[in-house]
Formats: sequence, C-alpha cells, structure tokens
Amino acid sequence: KKYSKEDVLKLANEYGVEYVHLQFSDIFGVMKNVSIPVEELNKALNNEIMFDGSSIDGFVRIEESDMYLRPDPDTFVIFPWRTNSGVEARLICDIYNYDGTPFEGDPRYVLKRNLEEAKKLGYQFNVGPECEFYLFLTDEKGNLTTITQDDASYFDMAPVDLGESARKEMVSTLKQLGFQIEASHHEVGPGQHEIDFKYDDALTTADNVMTFKMVVRIIAQKHGLHATFMPKPVFGIAGSGMHMNMSLTKDGKNAFYDPSDPIGLSKVCYNYIGGIIKHAKAMTAITNPIVNSYKRLVSGYEAPVNIAWSARNRSPLIRIPAKRGESTRIELRSPDPTSNPYLALAVALAAGLDGIKNNITPPPPVNANIYHMNKEELENLGIERLPGSLEEALNELEKDEVIKEALGDHVYTKFLEAKRAEWDEYKIYVTQWELDQYLSKF
Ligand code: ADP
Ligand code: MG
Ligand code: MG
Ligand code: MG
Ligand code: MG
Repeated sequence: KKYSKEDVLKLANEYGVEYVHLQFSDIFGVMKNVSIPVEELNKALNNEIMFDGSSIDGFVRIEESDMYLRPDPDTFVIFPWRTNSGVEARLICDIYNYDGTPFEGDPRYVLKRNLEEAKKLGYQFNVGPECEFYLFLTDEKGNLTTITQDDASYFDMAPVDLGESARKEMVSTLKQLGFQIEASHHEVGPGQHEIDFKYDDALTTADNVMTFKMVVRIIAQKHGLHATFMPKPVFGIAGSGMHMNMSLTKDGKNAFYDPSDPIGLSKVCYNYIGGIIKHAKAMTAITNPIVNSYKRLVSGYEAPVNIAWSARNRSPLIRIPAKRGESTRIELRSPDPTSNPYLALAVALAAGLDGIKNNITPPPPVNANIYHMNKEELENLGIERLPGSLEEALNELEKDEVIKEALGDHVYTKFLEAKRAEWDEYKIYVTQWELDQYLSKF
C-alpha cells in the first residue's frame, strides 16, 4: 500500500488540486472519466460516488444502473500538465454494484480475480509491456491522416523533428507521473515509436498502460500530432504491437528461472508456456480484439503468425529473452495495444496457470525462422496458426472454457456480443481493395 485515504486528501490539499478525475475502463479498454471538484474528494474516498452504469458500453441495463466507484488511493497522481480548470489529479476506481458486491463486468475486477488464483498457488504475476504507436499529422482542417512527418527509420538519429520532440515530452511527462522509463526509441515504420517502462505487478502494469495511452495522446495533440494505437494503420509497413513480458515470482524469487536446466528455465516456466500455447487461439480474441488487429498478424513484420516458442528468434508467438536470473521472463508477442490491458493480462495469466496446474508440457522450441517454413514443414512439426481474423478468434473463444472462465460470464457475453456485431458490420463492407481488383475486371 502506497497511500492511505488521508495521504490522498493531504496531497490534494498541498498541491492545490481543484478537480479529480475518477477513472475506470469499460470492457473494451476505453478509459471512462467522472470528474469531481476537490470538495467531493472525501466523499469519493468513502466510496460514495455513484454513476449510471447503463451509460457505459457493455456494462448494465437501465434497470440495474446505479453503481458505485471505489477509488484506489494507490493510483493517485497529479497531472503535470495544466488546463483551464487549474491543477487536476486522478484516481483509478473499482466498480461496485448497489448492493456492495464487486461488479463482474469491471475489467479491473476480472484481473484481480485471476490474480487471486495465482496468489493461492503462491505466485505474484509481473508484466512489462512494450507499447508501440504511430504519430500522424492532421491536415489543415484538423482531419486525421496517415501521413507522418518523419521519414527516419529504426534507431536513426533523425534531425530534431515533431515526432522526436513529442516523444521526448511523453517520456518526461510519464516520468513526472512516476513511470520508470527503460527505453524509448523510433520503431521500424516511419512515424512509429516505442516507449518501454519497467515491469511491475500486473495490476499496476494494466493501470499504467491505461495512463500511458492517455499521456501519449494528450502530448501528441499538444505537438499537433495524432497518436494512434491502431495495430495496422498503413498497409505494407510494420504494425503496432504491445509485447507482454511476463514472469512469476514466488517468495520474492523469479519462479521461471532454474540454473540447472539446459536453457535456464524452470518447470513452472515450461508449464506456463505450455498453457499459453494450449489457449493461444482463444486468447487472441482478447489480445487482438479488433478487425484491424488481424492485418498486423501476418508474415514478414516480426508479428507472430504461428503458435510456437523460441529462445532464439523473433518470429514465433513466444520468445524467451536471453536474460536469466531475476530477469527470466517470457515475451508474448501477439498482443496489440487495442487490447484491454486488464483482460489481456487476465487471460494470459489464466492460460499460464492452467499449464502449471495441469502440468502441460509445451512442444519443443522452434529455433528456425518459421516465416520461411512451408505448410508441410509446419504441419510436420505440429505448429498451428493463430486465428486469421476476428471471426476465427471469436469462434475459438467460444470453445475455450478456461479463457471463458477467466473473463467471467458478464464480460464474456458482452464482449462476444459486441465483437460479433463488429465483425458482421465489417463483413458486408465493400473495401477499396475490392473496387481496385474487380470494378474494371468484371
Ligand atoms: P525487447 O528486447 O523485446 O525490445 P524491451 O527491452 O523493449 O524488450 O522490453 C522489455 C520489457 O520487459 C520491459 O518492460 C522490462 O521492464 C520487462 N521485464 C524485465 N524483466 C522482467 C521480468 N522479470 N518480468 C517481467 N517483465 C520484465
Ligand atoms: Mg522493445
Ligand atoms: Mg529493447
Ligand atoms: Mg518494438
Ligand atoms: Mg519485444
């Protein structure tokens, strides 16, 4: 515990906070805000602030719409930027039903519930995300474009340009908000960037991802740019992912490390990998939740296509970074930043724990570049593919009891319903590609 209720009240007073944003996430990972003047902060910290749950996508019907926000004092931060309303702060909240029970549709609760399962087995779940995004220009009318100002590529020391200075300010703002930034660099695509912050326990990391996206958007806007986490904004250039680096600790020690193993991994780690591989297809619906996500999961851009793991190369679903000891971790390469971080971490953990509980042995690692293997070679090695579309992923989700249970009935049902509708709408849309291919030909 970082802060008590009294600490928060004291800090707010000391810094002259005028407004507090009470934040939470809907099931799609979109941040919601209820703003209160600081005079209401005491009431908020006593969990007395209500909101209308029926106004939030995927939450509840009108009849049961009175819900409570319970701010988590540990998430209190003062925004380093100023607006017309003076000094502002925020608190991330849990959502409770009118009768005082936790709301099952709250993604933060879904993650907490899965973290409890890990705790029962003695594990703490640690995650370090790598969020990629594009910075695009807006045109004279303020409309969004997919034009980038820089044409610097990976790690280029480009002359100071809009993108670079925006990223610098993002990093300094994140630092002021308490983030430990480990690296920040230009990515492969023109206008594409990555900022990495230090891993933490999964709940803190999921909260951090929400804050991170908010900061990146706000600072980009300040620089006249539009930041997008869309997985594949431009055909033919690298998409944006959100690799998840994961480890378990037991009694403060890394449970994935075993120096006596030929590649330094423990049985727990192998089982965790086995669980992820077993549930990979269904998990994809959550880690890659939009139609566009599947345009990133194609060969040739370091995004995974096949369900395999490797300690060597960057093409499979799971890579084991070289570091051992306390840094032993596995990197799941499929997630993209449009996923709801609470749900993505919940399903990844549930899959891994299933591997541990049921002693699932992973297939042998694949150390050759799988992009270069043909269908037959893949089949001979028993390597399957990730779902190729949102529809396929949803079909897999429907078949996987472990992942369904990790989400809980409420989130599972609402998510599936909304995503089926999204797919159905897309399916009937006539795209530019079709017009280019067929209009003159037929
Ligand atoms: P990559 O080599 O894939 O580009 P990065 O260096 O960009 O990896 O990111 C590595 C991420 O892994 C960081 O967020 C870092 O804090 C995190 N990480 C390091 N050690 C652990 C660990 N033991 N458990 C979980 N995450 C970790
Ligand atoms: Mg990286
Ligand atoms: Mg790196
Ligand atoms: Mg990267
Ligand atoms: Mg990575």
